[in-house]
Amino acid sequence: MRTGRVTWPPKIFSRIIDWLYPARCTNCKEIFRPPAPREHNLLRDCLGSWLCPRCLAKTVLIDPPMCTCCGLPFGSTVGPDHLCGDCIARGRPFAKARSVFSYQGPVRGLVHSFKYGGRVELAWPLGKLMLQTLVRYWDPGRIDLAVPVPLHKSKERRRTFNQSWLLLRTWKKVVAETDLRGMPFAIDRRVLVRCRATGPQAGLNRRQRLKNIERAFEVTRPGLIKGKRILLVDDVMTTGATAEACCRCLLQGGAARVDVLVLARRG
Ligand SMILES: [Zn+2]
Ligand SMILES: [Zn+2]
Repeated sequence: MRTGRVTWPPKIFSRIIDWLYPARCTNCKEIFRPPAPREHNLLRDCLGSWLCPRCLAKTVLIDPPMCTCCGLPFGSTVGPDHLCGDCIARGRPFAKARSVFSYQGPVRGLVHSFKYGGRVELAWPLGKLMLQTLVRYWDPGRIDLAVPVPLHKSKERRRTFNQSWLLLRTWKKVVAETDLRGMPFAIDRRVLVRCRATGPQAGLNRRQRLKNIERAFEVTRPGLIKGKRILLVDDVMTTGATAEACCRCLLQGGAARVDVLVLARRG
């Protein structure tokens, strides 16, 4: 006799539903049938019904070896982590930055659908992958507070949401599925604000981006960050200028240390 937890609806029903209503790939728009769950595979568990098997196979997860500071993946697949040339040359305001994906191929399509295509439900699987990356590279007990990179009020009103906050706020629920026992750190979206609307960063080089973003951020409640170890959360890191401006602002506001976790990074 079979024992154990009965799941409802039974798996066969969801397989029939998958067969009757196949999915459309968020990236290439092809119709596909999500693969049957086999061995545990986190990427497929999270994105198997969003990306067709071909696009899923083309997503690039970032694995070591990488820069110990900024998380830049190195071309070779063997060898130890070490500092990259950029981090040696000029240092960083953050202690450590890590990313789930390389920002290329189908991940660009996913992020685009999430931010501009109204597919806000993607926050759940993407947030889950971010939390797994957090647990992989940090001891969550050594983080006091997680904050999203803020958008300026006018931009958030136009978009109707802050994508970094959508990702971050899933963690409270996702935590039940990880080996964390409860959320060991606070999350807060109001301690750091974007006080100045800046022009679009796309198309600018690093120097222009830094100038564009200078003094764009402000800590509203220094009391909440004083002496705290903060994790800054963002969706995409391109040159790192935005994340670095936020880190400098948090450090000037009294934070003890700032780390960065993003969904995808260039490089
Ligand atoms: Zn596809
Ligand atoms: Zn580096």
